[in-house]
Amino acid sequence: MLHIKTPLFQSTLLSERVGTAVWLKMEALQPCGSFKARGVGFACSRYVLDGAKMLISSSGGNAGLAVAYSGRKLGVPARIIVPEVTPQRAIGLMRAEGAEVVVHGESWFEAHQLASQQAIAEEAAYIHPFDDPLIWQGHASLVDELVEADVRPDGIILSVGGGGLMCGVVQGLLAHDLTIPVLAVETAGANSLETAVSQNQHISLDKITSIANTLGAKQVAARAFELTKQYPIENAVVSDETAVSACTQFLDDHRTLVEPACGASLSVVYDNHAFLRNKKNVVVIVCGGAGITRDSLDQFRQIVADGD
Ligand SMILES: *Cc1c(COP(=O)(O)O)cnc(C)c1O
Repeated sequence: MLHIKTPLFQSTLLSERVGTAVWLKMEALQPCGSFKARGVGFACSRYVLDGAKMLISSSGGNAGLAVAYSGRKLGVPARIIVPEVTPQRAIGLMRAEGAEVVVHGESWFEAHQLASQQAIAEEAAYIHPFDDPLIWQGHASLVDELVEADVRPDGIILSVGGGGLMCGVVQGLLAHDLTIPVLAVETAGANSLETAVSQNQHISLDKITSIANTLGAKQVAARAFELTKQYPIENAVVSDETAVSACTQFLDDHRTLVEPACGASLSVVYDNHAFLRNKKNVVVIVCGGAGITRDSLDQFRQIVADGD
C-alpha cells in the first residue's frame, strides 16, 4: 500500500460557519501531497506485480509526482515526460524521488503521446493521470476509510479535473451500497464536466483558462460523464478568485496549504453553497496538491486581484 490512511475529523470552524457538520478527509497529508497516492499507487503496484519493469507517465503535476514516488517505493525506474510549461519546482520534486524527468511538447497532449509510445516500445506500464479503472479502484479506498470511521455523510464535496477522483469515490460508494449526493466542483475555465453535462455530450473544452492547472483536463474520462447519468452528482463551478481565497482561509483555519484545485472544493463551504442546505453531515475531500508554496499562493492572490 503506497498511500496512508488519512485523518478524518469534523472542523469546528467550518461547521459553525455553515450550521452543518463539515468533515475533512485530509488527503493533503498523503506523502506525495495529494490523493493521487491512492489510485496511482494502486495502479503502479498492480502493473509491477504483473511484470512491468518500468513506469512511464506524462503528468507535470500531482499524478507525475505520485508515479515518481511509487517507482521509488516499488524499486522500479520511473520516467515522467512533462510538457514545457511544467514548473521547475515540480520537476525538482519528481527528481528528488529518483525519477527521470524528460521535458517534451507544448502541452500535456504531446507529452502523453510520447509517453504512450515509449511505454509500448519499452514494455513499461503507462500510468494515465485519471482515466484507468485501476486508478479508480485505488481512489475508492478513500470511501472504505469513511465507512470504517462510521461517518455516514449526506453529501460529499470533491474537485474534478479529469474525473478520476470522482469515478473512484462513486465506485467506492456503490461498492458499499451507498447513495450519497456528490458535489463535483470545478473552476471556471476548467469546467469540462459541467460543460459536458449541460450540453449532454462528452465534449472537450477548446482550452483551459483557469489558474487551477491541476483541474485542467480539457475532457473528462468517459466514465465520469456516464456516472453523471447514473448517480446523484451535482455540479458547481467557482471562480479562480473564490478558489484562491478559500486556500488562504483554509491555511489560517487549519494550517494546511493546498492548491487552488482543492480550494475550489473548500470554497463551496466558505460560501455556504446551496448543496449544504438540508444536509446534516458533509465530507469535503481535501485533495491537497504539492504544486503550491507560500510564494505561489501570494502570486495567485495577486493574479486574481488584478482580475486576470
Ligand atoms: C489530480 C487532482 C485533482 C483532479 O483529480 P481528477 O482525478 O483528475 O479529477 C484535483 N486536485 C488535486 C490536488 C489533484 O492532484
